[in-house]
Formats: sequence, structure tokens, C-alpha cells
Amino acid sequence: MRTVFRKISIVLLVGFFFLTGAPWEGPKGGASADSSFHPPVFVLLYHPWEEGFEDTFREHCIWLRQMGFETISIEILVDYMEGRAPILPPRPFLLTFDDGTIENYEIVYPILQEFGYQGTAFVMTGPPFFQSTDRKWWKEADRSNVLRIENHSHTHSLIFTGPKIIDFYSGENFEDYFLIKGMDRRLGAPIYELDAELVRYRYTPDRRLTDRCVNYVAQNGGEAFFKRENWREELQQVVENFRGSTAERGRYETDVQKGLRIQREIFHSKRMIEQAIGPGKKVDYFAYPWGIYDEGLIRQLEKSYRGAFTSDWGGNFPGDDPYRIKRVVVTSEMNAEDLAIFLLGE
Ligand SMILES: [Zn+2]
Repeated sequence: MRTVFRKISIVLLVGFFFLTGAPWEGPKGGASADSSFHPPVFVLLYHPWEEGFEDTFREHCIWLRQMGFETISIEILVDYMEGRAPILPPRPFLLTFDDGTIENYEIVYPILQEFGYQGTAFVMTGPPFFQSTDRKWWKEADRSNVLRIENHSHTHSLIFTGPKIIDFYSGENFEDYFLIKGMDRRLGAPIYELDAELVRYRYTPDRRLTDRCVNYVAQNGGEAFFKRENWREELQQVVENFRGSTAERGRYETDVQKGLRIQREIFHSKRMIEQAIGPGKKVDYFAYPWGIYDEGLIRQLEKSYRGAFTSDWGGNFPGDDPYRIKRVVVTSEMNAEDLAIFLLGE
């Protein structure tokens, strides 16, 4: 399961990397260093399931310690962003870890202890993720004040968002599509256009069209069908024949259905984490799955969260929105010199 997640997420990460802007080039507004200068506070985002994570993360911690960096809590960061001018260490930063895989407990947690740092793991609560990582370690990690547990949604899913077909399920390409909520896993099932589920209306395809494609594959050799050179074109023709003769009955969810689905993803999962960790635990922060968010989602989160983390590149300054906390996505290819570019601006 984790390898599957790895593959999809890397595609998204690489996307972010090319979209992000230039490194920090000095104080906001170009002001020279004076008493009114507020430096950016950076939040590093790691994905501990990444190949090579352990070596990279250890190397980074060694460098961060040598350079005198100190982790601060999310509350201090939010105080800073909201202009309450908390007392900061000379070189403050935050460590965050997304997706809740078991490496958080097996690698991150002991390394943080070793270096005297604190971090936050953003976890999912949905069943698919428990197949590779249970929630038994949450309580110990959170209670230790070393690796705090916060929310990264219930399922981190993608949804179909409209009738356009982008592919068909062939069994082979399962890894690309396993995060699609409610996906039909019969060979030949159409894959419709997709997006992150917390920002879009969900489209439920016409079951008759799915059946038509699935039956066509079954009648033409099942798995062997996908060895044909033009299998996609053949299925596309099945779709065109259906659409040419039948009024398609795909449908979009209602506002109420969308609201309930999003509530489950952000509020139900919050309660699940609080219950798993026990009395006194309050989940106050959210990390947007895929780094994708919109105004509507922020309005929802404001009801019971105090802030949220994006994957938008940059440092955080006083006056910035705590529901749009910026992060620096750190990959296993980055060495300590790369970190120095953002954290020290050099
Ligand atoms: Zn994620």
C-alpha cells in the first residue's frame, strides 16, 4: 500500500517542485535589517515514506543542530503570524511529517528524541492506511511531546469530478488509481477526470456505462484483453457507442452530500484521533491532502481548527493567514546545503 501511495505522491510532489518560486531573497518588502524586521519562519515538510528518507533526515538534523536551529510549537508560530510577537529562539523552525505511515514512529520519533527536536505528524484515519500503519503509536508519540499527532483527513482521497473519461482500469494501473474514493475495481471500468476530494463536487458515473465496458473486457479475454495494442481505443469505442445511443445518467452530488462528505473527512477524523490518544487531546491543526484547498474548505476548518498547513512554498510572516501556513517540501534528494538556501537565505 505504501509503495502505491509513494508513486502517486511523488507525481504530485514533483509537480509542486516545478511550480514553486525562487528561494527567499531577504526581508519582506526589501527592508534592511532593523528592529521592525520580522524574519520568515519556515516549516519543513517531509514524507517519511520516501526512499532514502532516514539518511536525509538525519543529515539535516545534524546540520540544523550545528547551525543552532530550534523547533518551536505550532502555537508559537500562529502567535507570530497573528502579530502577538512571541519570544522566538534566534533560529526558529518547525518540522512536519505528512501521511502518517509507520516510518513516523520507527524513524522520525527516535531521531527527534536524539536531537532534542519536536515535530508534528499529520495522519489519516481511514481504513486503507491502517493496512500498513496502525494507530497504536499515536498515543505514545503525542504524549511524549516529541511527535505531536494532527489531522491530514480521513482518507486523503481523489474523486471523480465529471463525465470525461481519462483511462480505464486494467489491473496493471491499479497503483495510479487506488486513492479514488469508491472506485469500481472491475477490469475495464472507466476512470473519470479526478481531483482532490475536499475542494470539488463528486461525480457518480452511470453504472450502465461502467457495466458495458466491464462486460466488453470480460467477453474479450479478461486480463488478456489488455495485451492488445489498441485496447484503450477499443474501450473508447464502446463508450462512444453507448453515448451515441443512450442518455447518460451520471450525476453530481448535492450541496448537502458534499457537506457531509467533507465533514466526515475533517471533523469525524479529528474526533477519531482525539479518541485514540485519549483525555485532554485536542486536534487543532490540519494539513491539506495534496496541498489543495479553497475558501470553502477554509470556512469549514475555521469551525473547529485553529490553523492549517498548505504545501505552498515559502516562509511565514506576521500578518499571514494561519489557515494558509506555508511549508518547504523537503525531498530525499536535498542535502544540508539545499536547506541552507531557504533557512538562511544563502
Ligand atoms: Zn499527504
